[in-house]
Amino acid sequence: MNGFVYVVLGVLVSFFSNRVMQAADAQGMRFFYYVGMILIAVGVMKIVYNYIKKEDESEKNVISCPSCGVRHYESSNYCHMCGTKLKKNYLNNNS
Ligand SMILES: [Zn+2]
Repeated sequence: MNGFVYVVLGVLVSFFSNRVMQAADAQGMRFFYYVGMILIAVGVMKIVYNYIKKEDESEKNVISCPSCGVRHYESSNYCHMCGTKLKKNYLNNNS
């Protein structure tokens, strides 16, 4: 499930239980208030986790220049900083 669903659900649960708590002085609603807080925390963690995972996946398509260390997408043939030919090994094998 999407992390945003947890956050929205948690905000709703804690908001309404807080309102009920204030209106009816129902201390039992405090439990739901904390449940809502936990849902928000779980949702935020899921969003952060997904974000980190996406970053890792994009790393796979990135190679660093052997000369200056600037990072490129694997599709680029030359370093845009120093002009060094990337994928040197592949080119040597072909010739
Ligand atoms: Zn370079």
